[in-house]
Amino acid sequence: MSKMRVVQITQPNGPFELVEREIPEPAAGQVRIKVEACGICHSDTLTKEGTYPGIQYPRVPGHEVAGIVDAVGAGVVGWTEGQRVGVGWHGGYCGHCEPCRRGNFFACVWGQVTGITYDGGYADYMIAHSSALALLPEGLSAVEAGPLVCAGVTTFNSLRNSGARPGETVAVLGLGGLGHLAVQFAVKMGFKTVAIARGSDKEPLAMKLGADHYIDSQAQDVAAELLRVGGASVVLATVTNAEAMSAALAGLAINGKLIVLGAPHEPLEVPAFLLIAGRRSVAGWYSGTSIDSQDTLSFSRFSGVRAMTEVYPLERAAEAYDRMMSGKARFRVVLTTGQ
Ligand SMILES: [Zn+2]
Ligand SMILES: [Zn+2]
Repeated sequence: MSKMRVVQITQPNGPFELVEREIPEPAAGQVRIKVEACGICHSDTLTKEGTYPGIQYPRVPGHEVAGIVDAVGAGVVGWTEGQRVGVGWHGGYCGHCEPCRRGNFFACVWGQVTGITYDGGYADYMIAHSSALALLPEGLSAVEAGPLVCAGVTTFNSLRNSGARPGETVAVLGLGGLGHLAVQFAVKMGFKTVAIARGSDKEPLAMKLGADHYIDSQAQDVAAELLRVGGASVVLATVTNAEAMSAALAGLAINGKLIVLGAPHEPLEVPAFLLIAGRRSVAGWYSGTSIDSQDTLSFSRFSGVRAMTEVYPLERAAEAYDRMMSGKARFRVVLTTGQ
């Protein structure tokens, strides 16, 4: 077999097209991955709608990839055919630019993003830079692994670097694709975990995921409720609603931190006195690089953290994408290639 199926976008806002292509060969520093599963992330809109600057079309989206290394290019060290791997948003780093030399690989000026600067995982095969690879442990299926290398690493890595210590209170704002993983990670890391979402219907889910406390942001004063349980060392904001983020700020404990993961269009309102008087802070967090994804996969494997998924075959990518965009999916939509 020398042909493969890919689902591509040929222009901004164009439809998904299922086409056949030659199976590509990996160049130096690259590997070819036989894709088993690829999660659909809201950030795939950047490729679909062309809102990420400089995308060259046609482009295959997909940065929640799980599969098997199938061919290894020249000069690749440490990766061999047959290894199970994941590839997330971070599409690789050069190792020699200034941010890389300072250890900030996530900020590499090379700027490789899977499914955006090169073709991603809505395909039977894809080529990835070897620095983008995370080793996938036995015991996690490809469908389980896909969402963990984007939604998973974003929440796991921000939480583990948040400065909060086991036993302290972490509040997760939003209970969707990111939030339902964030609650599980917070619980397994030993935080007293508060889930915040709109309406009472998500309370049973929050409790099932292990949360200690649920706040219905439509019926309750979020900040007051957080203070009632002692204040949050961290509020992990997975929503894209600036107002909801601002409303949680006053619920931060002394030295507490609002960590912004979702990207609202409108600016955040932050009362300066709250920051000064309680030495509180607002920070953003970039999801992570390949080794962070690998740690996420490993932690999830042994702690039992799993995304709830809805699975579609690759050829129904358009329908699966619409399902993700509807906001009704519980909670991550994943494509499978059947190989
Ligand atoms: Zn993503
Ligand atoms: Zn670099």
